[in-house]
Amino acid sequence: MITKLAGKTVVITAAAQGIGRASALAFAAVGAKVHATDINETALSELTGKSGISTRRLDVLDNAAVEAAFAEIGPVDVLFNCAGFVHAGSILEMKEGDLDFAFDLNVRAMVRTIRAALPGMLERGDGAIINMASVAGAPKGVPNRFVYGVTKAAVIGLTKAVAADYVGKGIRCNAICPGTVESPSLEGRMRAGGDYDAARAAFIARQPMGRLGTPEEIADLAVYLAGATYTSGQAYNIDGGWSI
Ligand code: NAD
Repeated sequence: MITKLAGKTVVITAAAQGIGRASALAFAAVGAKVHATDINETALSELTGKSGISTRRLDVLDNAAVEAAFAEIGPVDVLFNCAGFVHAGSILEMKEGDLDFAFDLNVRAMVRTIRAALPGMLERGDGAIINMASVAGAPKGVPNRFVYGVTKAAVIGLTKAVAADYVGKGIRCNAICPGTVESPSLEGRMRAGGDYDAARAAFIARQPMGRLGTPEEIADLAVYLAGATYTSGQAYNIDGGWSI
């Protein structure tokens, strides 16, 4: 059974652009009360005034800010941890500090938000947590993505650990593993090498469906998982067939 999301409180991190933004709009479209959070207040402000969405600056690296935001928001029904960063390079190309930064943003930030939201969910015996992983990491080893793959694989471990601890208490915790999805940061990665067309063609070539995914397609899965009441601890590939 799919739980109705109308009136439910949904918190989304990294909601100013890309998948997080599309998810804020998708949750609002099914009647949820969405708290769209990000550090990019300029981009976030484009969501201001949209029906069902309230915006707030939240840096998920800042534990005190996370605690304060969740205390202010109150009970949360759905938490979508979308914040993440892609480092390029192999283990030998990794720069000092990259792994620490990536663990902080891609993994620890989820620990912070889950610790802030979970007690309220447990009090009500109901809650859905969705964590943004990637097909790069556990489902697939991907070249030139050492730091990213390590941390996104950890997201799946984190997801299963939380799911296992609270599966009998009304809490569901699942992970989403996208393939290559059109987003502002992907645009940046395609421009970074200097040959945009070749980079774009290479990203498309690794998707057997012959195209990049859209943020809206990933948002649909987030909405589905928020309401899907008989699944927990799973990592859902949504990747244009990359992991077949
Ligand atoms: P994006 O990378 O274009 O945007 C990321 C957003 O995160 C930005 O709005 C940025 O301001 C915000 N952010 C950065 N640091 C933050 C912080 N400390 N606190 C709060 N917000 C912060 O968006 P995207 O490409 O859709 O990626 C979103 C998520 O999806 C990431 O976790 C990414 O790893 C994952 N993902 C993306 C793809 C893809 O191809 N785009 C594929 C698989 C997984």
